[in-house]
Amino acid sequence: MGSRVKRKSTKVEKIWMDKVAQLGCFVCQRPANLHHIRNNGKGNIGMGRRSSHYEVIPLCYEHHQGNTGIHLDKINFEKKYGTEKEILKAVLLQVKVQECRSSII
Ligand SMILES: [Zn+2]
Ligand SMILES: [Zn+2]
Repeated sequence: MGSRVKRKSTKVEKIWMDKVAQLGCFVCQRPANLHHIRNNGKGNIGMGRRSSHYEVIPLCYEHHQGNTGIHLDKINFEKKYGTEKEILKAVLLQVKVQECRSSII
């Protein structure tokens, strides 16, 4: 076994991640991948703190790693669509709404 074992997502986290991915890209609703938010706040310098698997945003390739993506131009991206934290809040809300709907049907 390697010594650099990454923490795997738990089953519950995986279900959550699936739900988030199913929402589609936060910006354009196209099929999405998950972007993990990194908590690199002040006093947290060095390696990006391992973030929770709950802290994910659904983004399509273009808005994730493309020319207008969050990885390439985060400053502009956050200007246009809000900060990662703001987007995360909105995503959490959307998943909750979806959960309510599906429990009614
Ligand atoms: Zn998109
Ligand atoms: Zn990402």
